Amino acid sequence: MSGQNIVVIGAGIVGATTALALQRDGHKVILIDREGPCAGASFGNAGAIVNASCAPTAMPGIVFDVLRMIGRPLSPFTIRLSYFPRALPWMLRFLNESRRSRVYANAKNLHALTKTAADSWYTLISDTSLVDLLRPADWLKVYESDASFSRTAFARLLMDKLGVPYEILDPAGVQDLEPRLAPIFKHGLLVRDGLLIINPGKMTRGMVDLFLSRGGRLQRFAAERLEIGTDNIVIHDQSDSLSAEKIVIAAGAWSRDLALQVGDRVPLDTERGYHLMLPVSSSALLTRPVMSADNSFVLSPMDEGLRLTSQVEFAGLDAAPDYSRVRSLIPAAKRMLPGIDTAEQSVWMGCRPSLPDSLPVLGFAPKCDRVIYSFGHQHLGMTLGPRTALITADLIAGRDPNIDLRPYRADRF
Ligand SMILES: Cc1cc2nc3c(=O)[nH]c(=O)nc-3n(C[C@H](O)[C@H](O)[C@H](O)COP(=O)(O)OP(=O)(O)OC[C@H]3O[C@@H](n4cnc5c(N)ncnc54)[C@H](O)[C@@H]3O)c2cc1C
Repeated sequence: MSGQNIVVIGAGIVGATTALALQRDGHKVILIDREGPCAGASFGNAGAIVNASCAPTAMPGIVFDVLRMIGRPLSPFTIRLSYFPRALPWMLRFLNESRRSRVYANAKNLHALTKTAADSWYTLISDTSLVDLLRPADWLKVYESDASFSRTAFARLLMDKLGVPYEILDPAGVQDLEPRLAPIFKHGLLVRDGLLIINPGKMTRGMVDLFLSRGGRLQRFAAERLEIGTDNIVIHDQSDSLSAEKIVIAAGAWSRDLALQVGDRVPLDTERGYHLMLPVSSSALLTRPVMSADNSFVLSPMDEGLRLTSQVEFAGLDAAPDYSRVRSLIPAAKRMLPGIDTAEQSVWMGCRPSLPDSLPVLGFAPKCDRVIYSFGHQHLGMTLGPRTALITADLIAGRDPNIDLRPYRADRF
């Protein structure tokens, strides 16, 4: 079915790509955002498109990893004490997902989405100048010790099972790829066929501009109340309303309350993350995003500077950011890449929308076929935005998306 009136809620990467994909199919699309485009996680991430990524966050032994991390001064994982009671149900589900049988299933279902992630990017933007913001860049993780590398054994097993191409590097192999790294890394793991978005904020806003230039409509509008009728859906904010034949809920970490109004209680929480920008001169020191596995941070060479991203913080959507932890990583970054200029340019915090099984919620709402969900893209929203947008467009057009969508249903928990 083409030519429907559709409202997409949320103008992050998921909403922007969805609006573009629906517009291509001839629908009349209104993209709404309560703050304007790219106000959430899509602005400040590491920009890595990790094609064929398959390791969910909940892996066997994660409980010990978390306990080990919590005690460390530079811990990349924190739960604010006041938020602990709210986070507990999510944590218990997360632990349940770390059982081997669940991990295999989650990896398979994650891979089913990510395996065409890079192609999906090109499908959406290869005929536009936005493609200039993409660079071919394999995903490199580096390890200072045998112990930290040996913890990748299960992830490598998953990659072997699913046929994900990767290479194990020795110290010389790491240096060959990234000669400016300090010679402190005993091992490297390189996952092929990735891309880097050199400015995720510019990319997301650029997609919204493209959508507008093709006749789309963007409206600043906070979706607060959904009124589901037989022929339409009315979206209300405090003083205004919008009517649509269908809506797509793509409001990232803020999607839970909207889904609840459609009748789905989804265990969506936010894993907050941070970035710190270093001067543009430091960006030239790397050719790809590199993750320090020992300290759980990524250095990404962006057009406006070298971006250090890190942290998983459970504190809810509204708590004030705590930039001290990302700042405390600067000495470790200097040790990793000695040539960097450590003058801080800016800091940022964003809310990753995460479900305990590392899979998004995707597809028609079980109780209402006027509502399509696309949220919960966790650590991989930049990777998955176009892929999930194309699936949403297929569903609305009545085409077969060629993927079993049951694992991503809102009522799977
Ligand atoms: C530090 C960090 C590093 C990351 N690195 C990577 C990476 O390298 N690769 C990767 O693939 N992913 C990465 N991610 C994850 C990625 O950024 C997210 O998964 C992705 O941005 C989520 O996109 P989204 O569109 O779902 O949500 P958002 O970008 O958060 O957008 C949601 C939008 O919805 C709007 N909104 C919310 N509620 C309403 C409402 N009621 N009405 C109207 N509008 C509303 C908000 O204003 C916002 O603009 C990283 C995340 C972080 C935090």
